[in-house]
Amino acid sequence: MTVTRFAPSPNGYLHLGHALSALTGWRAAREAGGRFLLRIEDIDVGRARPEFEQALYDDLAWLGLDWERPVRRQSEHFDDYRAALARLDAMGLTYPCFCTRKDITAEIARSPAAPHGPEGALYPGLCRGLDPAEARARADAGERFAVRLDVAGAMAAAGPLRWHDRIAGWQDADPGALGDVVLARKDIPTSYHLAVTVDDALQGVTLVTRGEDLFHATHVHRLLQALLGLPAPDYRHHGLIRDASGARLAKSKGAPALRDLQAAGMTPEEVRGLVGLTP
Ligand code: GLU
Repeated sequence: MTVTRFAPSPNGYLHLGHALSALTGWRAAREAGGRFLLRIEDIDVGRARPEFEQALYDDLAWLGLDWERPVRRQSEHFDDYRAALARLDAMGLTYPCFCTRKDITAEIARSPAAPHGPEGALYPGLCRGLDPAEARARADAGERFAVRLDVAGAMAAAGPLRWHDRIAGWQDADPGALGDVVLARKDIPTSYHLAVTVDDALQGVTLVTRGEDLFHATHVHRLLQALLGLPAPDYRHHGLIRDASGARLAKSKGAPALRDLQAAGMTPEEVRGLVGLTP
């Protein structure tokens, strides 16, 4: 049984890029006679807003989509992510990171050999070798810390891995490309990478459809699946919708919201045509 999902963050209104992701997942489930789920990725409780969540239900319904209920809201499941993190901790594959953004930027600027990945500079490892007693003392003194994955240790523990993308084909997992990613933020007991991996498994998702901006993230998710004993879904990373200048759509850059297009008289069929998904 094919199970797909659309997993938006209710931090703003949906735009055409979201419409493409949602329609791709919904269609794949439809065509396979499977199930389509909606998940609200609201771990960043400071940025998520109920009016954006309500708006995304309205926009998706306007597009003609339907989904199973109840909808999983990540902010209601922090214990699931804590349990997964505890497992990785127990395997000795995590470490506390006290760095501020400023510490990290300064270190990258200072060291010419700072590691870089396809998405830019990687975490330069300042806290990787921190003495555990010192880390404990700093935490006990109230200094806040994130939890990072020791990606080299994790790759050694998991061994070589592969994952499958329905467009790009089989991939040798290269989780090191994103470095020692954050698994739990200073202010939030999880991160995008951890929550998405745990939830796709808990919800029985068999096909993850999302934009190719998350292609590299999948290498990390494959590694986390292996470490946590979770099944690996199939993937379909679709191309991104770009604006007239070729930049990828983003609400921060003024991409028109679906509701603006609707207010301007556009029909759901026209939106489907715009994102290249004509029937
Ligand atoms: N919440 C993520 C986003 O809005 C979705 C990521 C995913 O589909 O895995 O970008």
